Amino acid sequence: RQAVLKISTGSKELDKLIGGGIQTMSITEAFGEFRTGKTQLSHTLCVTCQMPVEEGGANSKVALIDTENTFRPDRLRAIATRFNMDPEEVLNNVLYAKAFNTDQQLDLITALAAKFSEEPGAYRLIIIDSIINLFRTDFSGRGELGERQQKLNTMMSRLMKVAEEFNVAIFITNQMMSDPSGGLTFVADPKKPVGGHVLAHASTTRLYLRKGRDNQRVAKLYDSPDMPEAEATYAITEGGIDD
Ligand code: ADP
Ligand code: MG
Repeated sequence: RQAVLKISTGSKELDKLIGGGIQTMSITEAFGEFRTGKTQLSHTLCVTCQMPVEEGGANSKVALIDTENTFRPDRLRAIATRFNMDPEEVLNNVLYAKAFNTDQQLDLITALAAKFSEEPGAYRLIIIDSIINLFRTDFSGRGELGERQQKLNTMMSRLMKVAEEFNVAIFITNQMMSDPSGGLTFVADPKKPVGGHVLAHASTTRLYLRKGRDNQRVAKLYDSPDMPEAEATYAITEGGIDD
């Protein structure tokens, strides 16, 4: 059995909260309102995973599936610069794919598994920002919730399998019910993350992100197999997620 690796979030406080970083062979979910830093955290992880293991990285490439069209290469350049890394080299190690519907999203995960067997050990991280957006648009009708949850469950199982088979960390973002970018909602509680029990059970570690003062944000650890429920403050900066 391979050793679990931990990838830094860019914030020491946030790393401490989750036991050192986001872990391989595991699914970490970040949910929270719009502008709480889910996408900035996704960008930061694209860079930190490339750092040496001794520095909080996994010495690896990363695959990112973008479902909200919010990926910005320039953000990666700025984050790479913060860590004294070559921006273009950092970009070359990011395998980027856009998905336009849930079928494509599922197919991309399968394609990644094939890629990982071709290049064993090259990838230690998959990011999906967000896991839920296309489910909300593909299954927006009232009667489609069951079907949606079933497909989401299939996707989460596939992700977990890839995580374990290839010693990869899975980082997914999730929206709140009220998120205006998420299409139609038909459940009235805006304080809840989307995805219901399927996501709650399939994610190993869940982080609830909320706004603080200025560029400060607060993460609350919801579910963790081995860490206490607690909170950490982090900041969104030009150089990505920081303390
Ligand atoms: P979410 O994905 O949770 O909706 P984002 O990760 O997109 O949120 O975070 C948006 C926040 O990040 C905004 O408050 C924005 O001001 C901040 N932000 C984006 N880019 C930068 C930057 N280059 N420097 C500092 N803050 C930034
Ligand atoms: Mg976002």
